[in-house]
Amino acid sequence: MDFSLTDDQCLIRDTIRQFMEAEVRPTIRARDREEKFASGELHKLGELGCCSMLLPESWGGQGGDTISYVLMLEEVARVDAAMAVALSVTNSLAVYAVFKYGSEAQKERHLSNLASGEMLGAFCLTEPQAGSDAAAIGTTATRHGSVYKLNGTKSWVTNGGESGLYVVFAKTDPSAGAKGASAFLVEPSFPGFRVARYEDKMGLRTSRSAEITFTDCEVPEANRLGEEGQGLKIALELLEGGRVGIAAQAVGIAQGAFEAAASYAKQRRAFGKTIGDFQAVQWMLADMQTEIEAARVLMYRAAWMRDTRAPRVGPYASRAKLYAGEMVNRVVSKAVQIHGSLGYSRESDVERMYRDARVITIYEGTSEIQRMIIARDLLSGSAPL
Ligand SMILES: Cc1cc2nc3c(=O)[nH]c(=O)nc-3n(C[C@H](O)[C@H](O)[C@H](O)COP(=O)(O)OP(=O)(O)OC[C@H]3O[C@@H](n4cnc5c(N)ncnc54)[C@H](O)[C@@H]3O)c2cc1C
Repeated sequence: MDFSLTDDQCLIRDTIRQFMEAEVRPTIRARDREEKFASGELHKLGELGCCSMLLPESWGGQGGDTISYVLMLEEVARVDAAMAVALSVTNSLAVYAVFKYGSEAQKERHLSNLASGEMLGAFCLTEPQAGSDAAAIGTTATRHGSVYKLNGTKSWVTNGGESGLYVVFAKTDPSAGAKGASAFLVEPSFPGFRVARYEDKMGLRTSRSAEITFTDCEVPEANRLGEEGQGLKIALELLEGGRVGIAAQAVGIAQGAFEAAASYAKQRRAFGKTIGDFQAVQWMLADMQTEIEAARVLMYRAAWMRDTRAPRVGPYASRAKLYAGEMVNRVVSKAVQIHGSLGYSRESDVERMYRDARVITIYEGTSEIQRMIIARDLLSGSAPL
């Protein structure tokens, strides 16, 4: 077993770290306060290849492995978690969707714009009445000759209003349950597409989460992704990959919070010593770093399994996402504790990280859903116990 990174992987990590420190860290607190979407910064990361890490070079991507991809997301999230989710959705749920399930014409039309960072991608599965229970979506796609008309509402669409391509899931056969959904590539210029409003969130305040309505939204048949009825299968497969990215986002936020806490513990004085001299603070730091490492190893394992096409990647992606999501919430809470009142102030980075981390046990499948996936696999008979 070899835990070292390749030279290429180190180069990606170092390049992104340098970029985030120089171009993003100086403005992050102000942008969070102003809820300003980082379009310029994301565009520059797109130029560095961060929107198409897993896409083969022949389609304009980086042809990178999943380890490189999670290293990139970790470095972005270490400074700005909201930018990491924009990139995670674009890479895992939009670019990869078109590459894996798209026709040649769909790839020709969309991949180069997505790969270069010209446009971000979005993924529209959740609805006001259907989150964890994705088969319960009510958006319909009714065929009228060579077009489908989409009707319904999607909620919490990351990159909504900022994206050039929306992967939308709708029922083509509402009577067929989970097998009645299909996937579509929708462009915001299509008639009947509307960004209705933006969510007012606890954290990730510089990311966009939109409610989008489709009113007789005309989508050409050529924009259907995959076959009719394959929609939910496609969504769930994409989310397996997405969860490795969300684990990386969690590890990145936790690493950023740990570094801030360790640095503060070395400066802040109380009772004639630095607070890092107190065992209570040392033990918090030791637990934080140990848990971060544990999550990182689970995440690398899931990434490595994807790269080696190992069987049962899904439950391992769920383990990484479950553990990393719960770990980051413990770590950011300790980071706030170590900062004392400063940790409760918007003058500190850990206050923002505390808010940003909370969503990780919720989106791309809640912790409860991850446990369900892991347990189902363990009890299925195919998993070694
Ligand atoms: C910031 C943000 C960004 C998001 N981005 C996107 C996006 O880009 N695209 C998209 O499609 N969606 C997105 N989502 C939606 C997200 O994926 C859903 O919120 C998530 O899947 C949970 O669905 P829900 O909120 O409807 O909760 P519900 O499904 O209503 O769950 C409520 C509670 O019940 C529990 N529960 C539900 N079913 C079970 C069960 N069978 N067993 C045990 N417990 C259960 C859940 O774990 C949870 O605790 C985003 C959400 C947020 C907050």
